[in-house]
Amino acid sequence: MQKDQLFTRRRMLLAGAAALGAAGTAGVVVASGGGEETHSAVPVAGPQARQALKPSAFRLQPFAADAPPRAAPRKLKARHEPILRISGRGRHMMLTFDDGPHPEYTPHILDTLAEYDVRAMFFVCGEMVVENKKLVARMADEGHVVGNHTWTHPLLTTLSREEIRGEMERTSDAIVNAYGERPQWFRAPYGAWNRAAFQLGAEMGMEPMAWTVDTTDWMTPGTDTIVDRVENGAAPGVVVLSHDAGGDRSQSVRAIRRYLPYLLESGYHLTVPPRRMS
Ligand SMILES: [Zn+2]
Repeated sequence: MQKDQLFTRRRMLLAGAAALGAAGTAGVVVASGGGEETHSAVPVAGPQARQALKPSAFRLQPFAADAPPRAAPRKLKARHEPILRISGRGRHMMLTFDDGPHPEYTPHILDTLAEYDVRAMFFVCGEMVVENKKLVARMADEGHVVGNHTWTHPLLTTLSREEIRGEMERTSDAIVNAYGERPQWFRAPYGAWNRAAFQLGAEMGMEPMAWTVDTTDWMTPGTDTIVDRVENGAAPGVVVLSHDAGGDRSQSVRAIRRYLPYLLESGYHLTVPPRRMS
C-alpha cells in the first residue's frame, strides 16, 4: 500500500506540474489535456453563499423541476487529468477526507467542522457507507459534499473496465441511498487514475477530484507533522487530502482541531463545490 501511495505521489507531482501550466483559468478546474472545456465553477464559502449561487452557474445541465432526485446522472465530457486545485477569487482552500465514513473517527471530524461552521468534502467507500449510513446522512444534513471513492478501494489500474464500473456504480447508488443526492465527484483510490476511470466517471456525471497537499496522515506520522503539512502547504486554491478511515486516524482527528482554527485565523475560506439543488 505504501508503495502504491509513493508511486501515486510521484504521478501526482508530474500531473501537478503539467496542470500548473494551465492555471489561471476561472473556475474549479485546472486540469489540462487538450480539448477540455473549462467550467466556470467558482467554489463558494459557507451556506449563505451556497444558497446564493444558482445551480446553472455550476452545472451545465439544467435541472428539470419535475425530475426526481434519483434521476439518471447527466453525462459530462471525460477529462484526461483530475482536478488538482480549486480557483476563484480570494483565499479559498478545500479540506477533503477519504476512505470513510468510520464510526470512531468521522464523528469527531464532523464535530470540529461544525464547531467552526466549515464544510468539507468526504470521498466515501461504498462498503463503509452501507455500514455507516447515519454518518452519511449527517454529512448531508450539515452541508458537506460527498464524493465517490469506489466500493472496496482497489487500485483501479489493475481492474477491467467492467470491474471499475461496478465499483463506481454500486458506490454511487449507496451514496444516493444514504445521502439523498447522486455524487458529482469521484476520487480514484491512491490517486491512480486511468482512462476508463475518467470516462466512466463522466458517464456517471462525476468530475475527478484529486488534491494539492497530501497531509500524509495515512502514514500516521504524528499529529505535529500533519498540522505542519497543512499549515505549510496552505495557499489559495489548495485542496488538502486527509483520511477519516483506513487505519488509526486519531492523529487526523487531533490535527484538524489545530490546523482548522489556524487556517481561519489566517484568512482562508474553507469551501466546497455547491451541491445541486432541485
Ligand atoms: Zn483512499
